[in-house]
Amino acid sequence: MPLDLTLKNAHPYEPSKSLVAKIARRLVPFQERRDVRFKLDKPVVSFTFDDFPRSAIENGSDLLEKQGWNATFYVAAGLRDVFNHHGQQFAAEDLPALEARGHEIAGHSFGHIDLTYLSQTALIAEINRNKKALRAMGVNGPIDNFAYPFGAVSALLKKTLAGQFKTLRGITPATHVNKADLNGLKSAPVFSGAKLDHTMTLIEGLKSQPGWLTLFAHDIRDTPSEWGCTPEEFTAIIEAVKNTGALVLPIQSAIQHVESNRVD
Ligand SMILES: [Zn+2]
Repeated sequence: MPLDLTLKNAHPYEPSKSLVAKIARRLVPFQERRDVRFKLDKPVVSFTFDDFPRSAIENGSDLLEKQGWNATFYVAAGLRDVFNHHGQQFAAEDLPALEARGHEIAGHSFGHIDLTYLSQTALIAEINRNKKALRAMGVNGPIDNFAYPFGAVSALLKKTLAGQFKTLRGITPATHVNKADLNGLKSAPVFSGAKLDHTMTLIEGLKSQPGWLTLFAHDIRDTPSEWGCTPEEFTAIIEAVKNTGALVLPIQSAIQHVESNRVD
């Protein structure tokens, strides 16, 4: 499959359907793990936004702030000022403004590309290019956490990026109960449709089995993309999380909390 590096085509994305690629993807969760084991008395939820479109601020993090909550934004710096299928993407000044309000800025590669195609050298260059661009836009805080673009991950990626970040997040929808792979954090989509019902089920499940659930969203607007949701749906998610009594923390604080509840 040719590697398409153009930003406009960054999202609609199809992972390789070859048998070898499918088998490799099934093995990855068991490879290059960095497990943390913990026991929580109370659930923890982390809201995260990927890429990210500006509507994630207006209809997303602004609403979280009303609850006294903060989020993590996984930013691909190359998407700055781009208009794509998620709508208008962030502007440079959004990043320090979000940080000033207590949100976390995290890594997501510069060009929002499938990193599994890159050599180790090219991969590190891509990650550093993003960090440098985020700094140039005024990001001051630590850039300690990362999300794989498209959730595309390989054993080499896990191994290489483990040395660069405290956590690496994918897109497998599940709650971390008693254990998390820091090289492959799971995350549930806040996307309209059937996936939202499943995410709601995971949120409900926190009431009977406290764990750490991370959520990820893109555009939040009246006519969302396939990977987005409406403001009403996002509000419903907030209400559901509130009803669980969960601690709501960005990834950097959630990991500190989880590690302070470590059991070995
Ligand atoms: Zn993304």
